[in-house]
Amino acid sequence: MKKLYSLVIPLYNEEQVIHECIKRVTDVMKDKDFDYEVIFVNDGSKDATETIVKQYCAEDAHLKLISFSRNFGHQTAITAGMDHSAGDAVIVMDADLQDPPEVVLQMIEKYEEGYDVVYAVRSKRKGETFFKKFTAKVFYRFLKSMCEVDIPVDTGDFRLISRQVCDVLKGLTERNRYVRGLVSWVGFKQTGIYYEREERFAGETKYPLKKMLKLSMDGITSFSTKPLKLTKWIGLVTTASGFIYLLVVIIQRLMGIRLQNGWIPAVIAILIVGGIQLIMSGINGEYIARIFDESKNRPLYIIREKVNMDE
Ligand code: UDP
Ligand code: MG
Repeated sequence: MKKLYSLVIPLYNEEQVIHECIKRVTDVMKDKDFDYEVIFVNDGSKDATETIVKQYCAEDAHLKLISFSRNFGHQTAITAGMDHSAGDAVIVMDADLQDPPEVVLQMIEKYEEGYDVVYAVRSKRKGETFFKKFTAKVFYRFLKSMCEVDIPVDTGDFRLISRQVCDVLKGLTERNRYVRGLVSWVGFKQTGIYYEREERFAGETKYPLKKMLKLSMDGITSFSTKPLKLTKWIGLVTTASGFIYLLVVIIQRLMGIRLQNGWIPAVIAILIVGGIQLIMSGINGEYIARIFDESKNRPLYIIREKVNMDE
């Protein structure tokens, strides 16, 4: 029997790229010795994305659409696509053609060699700002040093996962998701392939700084508790410095040296120690907010409409 591959493509205001995306993906996937489905997840787009995809869906049954009731975010859109996929393996990719559809065939080859996860490592990133490339590079390495799970560096969500891995991921219902971390966490036989990340085909990035920061906080808080434990070390260092300074002042007094303008060191100390305390309480807040999110037990996403999908 022919293998079925599911492509999951999240869409948020992608009217400018969707035509080219469907064309490139179809060119790569059609007339092969496997079957395929493309699951577009419309993440609350406000432009014509949904109308355009529906027109294509009417002509080609390989193309399927899930529309959310509002914008739930990229990671949630990927999750919904995985939840509704039927393939022997599932491939997640961006709509803007930064992840070249041709690489999917290389992933399928690796899958057929027996790998459960084939992730795509960015050997080069074209057309992205220095700021984005730099912060991404630093973040991936920082995250790696923070967590016990081995999350590959310079790797986004562009990857293939087997049906077995997909089913395991379906059982992980945590809210503030960092999907690429979850895929590493589940284990199985994983391998990477290298590719050059292309420039966005058209339009603007849908990942402003705010969303990037949220994603990186989700990555860290989902896979490391080290920030929570930082408080005690900083506390130890500040307390020790306090005692050392006390000793210095006593010695100065004994030598007859009197401190002038004593309020200056006092103000500095209050600002530094007060600042550290607020930062640490903010870090605790990040974790508590996530516990709160989990405890509400709301669904991860709400689907408004499905096209070309059986119930
Ligand atoms: N995306 C989404 N929901 C969002 C933001 C982005 O579904 O809230 C989709 C977007 O349409 C694209 C993919 O996620 O298919 C990656 O987004 P983008 O290319 O803008 O991110 P970048 O490559 O700039 O990091
Ligand atoms: Mg992109």
